Amino acid sequence: MASYFLACNWPDNQQNMENMVTAFDPEAVLCADGEADYRIMLNLSSDERGILCRGELKGLAEAEIAFRDAEITDPRYSPEHFQQRCKEVVRRGVLTLLKQCRDMELPWGILTGVRPTKIFHYLRDLGFSPLEIRERLETVYLLAPEKAALLTEVGERQRPWLAGAEEKLCLYIGIPFCPTKCQYCSFASYPLASHGHLLDGFLSALIYELEVIGEALRKVKKPVVALYIGGGTPTVLNHEQLRRLMQEIHHHLPVAGLQEFTVEAGRPDTLDREKLALLKEYGVTRISVNPQTTNPRTLKLIGRQHTLADLDRAVQFVREVQIPCLNMDMIVGLPGETEEDWENTLERLLAAEAENITIHTLAPKRAAVWDYSQIKQEIKTDQIARSLKRIHTRLRSKGYYPYYLYRQRRIVAGEENTGYTANGWEGIYNILMMEERATIIGLGGGAVSKWLNPVTFELSRTPNPKCPATYQQRIKEIVGEKVNKLFGSLIDNPGRIR
Ligand code: SF4
Repeated sequence: MASYFLACNWPDNQQNMENMVTAFDPEAVLCADGEADYRIMLNLSSDERGILCRGELKGLAEAEIAFRDAEITDPRYSPEHFQQRCKEVVRRGVLTLLKQCRDMELPWGILTGVRPTKIFHYLRDLGFSPLEIRERLETVYLLAPEKAALLTEVGERQRPWLAGAEEKLCLYIGIPFCPTKCQYCSFASYPLASHGHLLDGFLSALIYELEVIGEALRKVKKPVVALYIGGGTPTVLNHEQLRRLMQEIHHHLPVAGLQEFTVEAGRPDTLDREKLALLKEYGVTRISVNPQTTNPRTLKLIGRQHTLADLDRAVQFVREVQIPCLNMDMIVGLPGETEEDWENTLERLLAAEAENITIHTLAPKRAAVWDYSQIKQEIKTDQIARSLKRIHTRLRSKGYYPYYLYRQRRIVAGEENTGYTANGWEGIYNILMMEERATIIGLGGGAVSKWLNPVTFELSRTPNPKCPATYQQRIKEIVGEKVNKLFGSLIDNPGRIR
């Protein structure tokens, strides 16, 4: 575990530098000058030829850099873009210094955030062509060529879905209960055995939220294009609870114009034919059945109780009741697994002919049972990177293409999560939520509402409590704030009320 001291003469860059260092060294510890293994110091200045960056790294290793970044002199940038360019130059300085000391590549270069595609849309909006962006991703943002190509492809595929999206709404409903807690999970998810007694009270509070927010939404009259019920595992609800939820959704929410209605059914053992028929009856168009692995030993290790027979049955039921779009998730990098396991899992998902296949790379989170320090010895970085390449090639050979992607803090091997789709089955919610180009109204446990200013594209967030008991206790206050925000966001943009 190495310690770092970071300094920059340009203001407001401490967090920015930290993000770059922790992307490079997930166990980095920040400390005071004089105590650090490594001291990184940057000095930035600017003139009409661009931003000049000088820097040095001292301590257990030594390195120096000096480069000029002329990107900001391109006439498509305006003065308001200067601060962002400075931040990017700072990260480039830090990464270049670190790479001189340790023989290590970061496939995503200086893009340390969760949503790397945002840089594509930012540059595309400024007037750069896909080819120009791809070149810059390699030379200015220091991405590996295959990541620059992936990001450019995904970004360009998303463009049609983003046109006019700022005028649309998506709804998310969080059901924060699961049969058990997976060892790698950091989502809002409470095991039924310990928290099942909170389920009825939670549902009553959720129905109240549906009622009040539904009434406000009808007044606002913005088109609701996608509804996503996630969690947790929403299909832990029994038949009666699920039917009630579906009825209340249809009764209160303006869902007549939905283009997509997704339900997450992460655990195949929570599904039966009757539940799926019920979802179909209430207009669900997309269902996500997520085995994560098809190795029975790993399923037990991560804390799941389902079998491969449960998975096959769930897929068969989805097809029988004719829910049109099936998504299946898998994780590459689960401890104890090999390249063969990952590729076997993929073959099973391909055999199910899922319309969407999402390839996750393990990201050990602090809030999960398995955090990075516990499992780092088992992370096979080279194997993960190699296997991901083969998986991506295999998916393309079967006609799938990537349509959304995101990264997570501490994602292993510095990789990413990529959503693939068969032709024409893109998940609309996934695109709009990930690119933050539409307002998302979050209801239920742990749901985060994201309020988009349709003029500036600035975003503000209001989270619901994750804990079902707190959610229930605070429901009136939560709903009141949300209604104010819903109307307030339109009063801020009066020309947008229809
Ligand atoms: S099924 Fe999903 S939400 Fe539930 S514990 Fe596992 S990873 Fe978390």
